[in-house]
Amino acid sequence: MDKIKVKSTIVEIDGDEMARIMWKMVKEKLLLPHLFMNVEYYDLHIKNRDVTNDQVTIDAATAIMRHGVGVKCATITPNEDRVREYNLKRLWKSPNGTIRTLLDGTVFRKPILVKNISSSVSAWKRPITIGRHAYGDVYSNTEMRINSPGRAELVFTPAGGGRPVKQIIKEFAEAGIIQGIHNTDKSIESFAKACFTFALDQKIDLWFSTKDTISKTYDARFRDIFEEEYKKNWKLKFAKSGLSYFFTLIDDAVARIIKSEGGILWALKNYDGDVMSDMIASAYGSLAMMTSVLVSPRGYYEYEAAHGTVQKHYYKHLKGGRTSTNPMAIIFAWSGCLRRRGELDATPHVVSFADKLEESAISTIESGIMTGDLLLVADKSPDNKKVTTKAFIDAVAENLRKKLSG
Ligand code: NAP
Ligand code: MG
Repeated sequence: MDKIKVKSTIVEIDGDEMARIMWKMVKEKLLLPHLFMNVEYYDLHIKNRDVTNDQVTIDAATAIMRHGVGVKCATITPNEDRVREYNLKRLWKSPNGTIRTLLDGTVFRKPILVKNISSSVSAWKRPITIGRHAYGDVYSNTEMRINSPGRAELVFTPAGGGRPVKQIIKEFAEAGIIQGIHNTDKSIESFAKACFTFALDQKIDLWFSTKDTISKTYDARFRDIFEEEYKKNWKLKFAKSGLSYFFTLIDDAVARIIKSEGGILWALKNYDGDVMSDMIASAYGSLAMMTSVLVSPRGYYEYEAAHGTVQKHYYKHLKGGRTSTNPMAIIFAWSGCLRRRGELDATPHVVSFADKLEESAISTIESGIMTGDLLLVADKSPDNKKVTTKAFIDAVAENLRKKLSG
């Protein structure tokens, strides 16, 4: 069978540890046998980020802006342990944070549902998608340890001159901590637009929640911008499609989500989205059963695996142990990226390949062949069999071959 040609360039961003090992297997066994792809490769292995003084991360983000579509493996965000482990020059920033700040945008995370795994929240029948604002707040904060008594102030100095505006944060009588965070109206507006666009596109209701009762300026600004955007640009379109937009306090949203049937987009601020997406993923089975895409307001897309580098499994692998790490999120990062590439290039055979790849992966799990994380949560069946990462990918490859030749 002839290989399928992917017309335009894909930006490939490699990563670390077990995720990197699965990444290579997915490429070699599921993609390269069937596709001619022109990839621009950026190696974000922690050592290469160190050698390039993290320039490679910036180059990768810039490449996505040039080509429109990228796919990223999980990467280590260094902490003190990692600095020692890899003998790093310094504590480099989170590559995801750097890329998100450059591309701006919103991260949409949607669980991958399979028939033989029911959600641990029995009310959830349809996927709950999280729309996470990917700019600002605590991810680009400035924080300080206070070691002695003194006054901490918030000061804004207008660029054009004029009197600085000051507010007291705390008169410290003893040691403590402070933190400054920010956001911009422009970024919140594009977050709102991205969420309304996504909900309309997927024909699902949109919920948005913040802590506006406590944060009467910061969180309330998010609420107001969403409200203005909705009234101005979406109310009519939503009504025509029978969809609704609903804002509520985050506490209330959490309580309601647990009782809902799912099938909604839940828009969340950066930190809330970080936390809630892990909760949703594990309720639907595993961290590895989640798709994730960063949608930038300028039309760039970055597909990624939402889980980390799976460090514990990697150490086991290094010691020669057999690992049963789940590559689903990596497979779906590639399929998502290929589908988008195919849509932008108007090459339906690439879109169809992406569909078949996903169907092959889902049907493998539904036939009972699964990695260890899923065996724990799958409906009990004599067909269920825990396999290694390699055996799982081989089984998907076999299904895919049949689908492509059928
Ligand atoms: P993690 O890699 O997500 O793994 C945490 C645990 O979740 C694993 O030990 C494993 O549980 C389970 N798990 C995650 N992905 C799995 C998969 N594909 N298959 C099976 N089980 C899976 O998080 P971490 O260990 O806290 O972080 C490791 C590194 O990843 C850190 O250096 C962190 O900076 C980085 N990280 C990167 C990203 C990203 O680039 N997107 C996101 C988060 C974290 P069991 O051990 O119980 O099997
Ligand atoms: Mg998280």
